[in-house]
Amino acid sequence: MPFNIVPRITYRSVLKNCVRHKPIVAKEAVALGYSTTNDLMHGLTKEQSELRSTVRNFVEKELPQDLVQKIDRDSHWSGFRDFWRKLGSIGVLGVTAPSKYGGLELGYFEHVLVMEEISRVCAAIGLSYGAHSNLCVNQLTLNGSEKQKEKYLPKLIDGSFVGSLAMSETSAGSDVTSMKLKAEKKGDYFVLNGSKFWITNGSEADVVFVYAKTSDKGITAFVVEKGMEGFSVGQTIDKLGMRGSPTAELMFDNCKVPASNMVGELNRGVYVLMSGLDYERLVLSGGPVGIMQMACDQAFDYAHERVQFNKPIGTFQLLQGKMADMHTRLQACRAYLYNIARAIDASGRQKSSRDGTSPFTKECAGTILYVSENATQVALDAIQLLGGNGYSNEYIVGRLLRDAKLYEIGAGTSEIRRWLIGRELNKEYLS
Ligand SMILES: Cc1cc2nc3c(=O)[nH]c(=O)nc-3n(C[C@H](O)[C@H](O)[C@H](O)COP(=O)(O)OP(=O)(O)OC[C@H]3O[C@@H](n4cnc5c(N)ncnc54)[C@H](O)[C@@H]3O)c2cc1C
Repeated sequence: MPFNIVPRITYRSVLKNCVRHKPIVAKEAVALGYSTTNDLMHGLTKEQSELRSTVRNFVEKELPQDLVQKIDRDSHWSGFRDFWRKLGSIGVLGVTAPSKYGGLELGYFEHVLVMEEISRVCAAIGLSYGAHSNLCVNQLTLNGSEKQKEKYLPKLIDGSFVGSLAMSETSAGSDVTSMKLKAEKKGDYFVLNGSKFWITNGSEADVVFVYAKTSDKGITAFVVEKGMEGFSVGQTIDKLGMRGSPTAELMFDNCKVPASNMVGELNRGVYVLMSGLDYERLVLSGGPVGIMQMACDQAFDYAHERVQFNKPIGTFQLLQGKMADMHTRLQACRAYLYNIARAIDASGRQKSSRDGTSPFTKECAGTILYVSENATQVALDAIQLLGGNGYSNEYIVGRLLRDAKLYEIGAGTSEIRRWLIGRELNKEYLS
């Protein structure tokens, strides 16, 4: 069947359809929701700044905070698929993918900006976005065959398909290569048996990038489609935070996957897996930065509205100090993240070495370690600044804390990131 490539949605057409940010003057700040994002401080180009505004305006319109709070309470959103198509229509589901598949063909820096802005408004949908656009679309872009890319990328990029990536299992988390899901070659098919756990977008996904054992030590990557014989969704997982991001168990019961859906070489999936990890850590780091921005926006607004002892509480020196700390953490995180994203784009995205590391491994792990732990602290500070209201579910800062905590665990824990950074440092001294 001839394959339809979706018409390329140009960056220009994305911008044409969206309202630009108006500059906010100080006295309007409280009413409009003042934001401390200042692109001048981070050297964004005009186009990058416009991309940020475009995405921010889009998500603020599509995901008002009362809806985001409801999604968080219900741990479900019936509008998820419609929203996905809308995300596809503005082009951001394939930021780093080639334009011939409908992608924007921009850099990881721009991908980080989109991740940050979606996560600022709704971190859970931001996580789902990262799993789709980076873990699935970008992995397929980097490692898929031409046929696989032609078959899957256009639909993943226009939003008619939802994508995810499945490596973790109940008994294989940090030690992911101990996975037990087995794939055996039988003629033109591989037969998969076992299960995956914790899979972001798992219950919605049409396309899953799956890793399975194909020999004692060998791992191989596959593209599994919804509807393939023997593939089903198991339990959905009720979580502390990121509740609007569907997380599920995936079951493979004699699941027949055509051999043509194998990605990369047989038994060499670990290189496919490792090749995406730097980009995964980098792009997902936009999530905690977005959460921190929202925590600052909420807390700083509140500090200038709430009056105690006849003064806005933000004028008390202790709270001024807290705001200064929150702002400084956010800006330091953003600067680290943007610097590494720019360096990766400028380097022409070097391939990982055989052990899966690249010159950027240490810094990508450092970035996500640093931004994640700071996001949790900044969310905690926002709760403290709001006093009793911060502890109430009527306000959103509690949700920000629950969402932020995920980034210290998902996509590798803080301990594993520290171990990795330490190992890379040791290599420099001991080699
Ligand atoms: C909301 C959510 C979404 C997720 N989405 C996905 C997804 O889309 N796809 C996917 O494949 N996976 C996904 N995961 C899984 C995630 O990658 C794992 O949870 C993570 O890698 C940690 O594994 P674990 O939960 O089994 O913890 P464990 O590995 O059991 O770790 C438990 C504790 O032990 C520590 N620990 C383990 N080993 C060491 C060590 N050597 N040294 C020091 N400390 C150590 C850990 O740091 C942690 O504190 C998701 C998880 C969550 C919570």
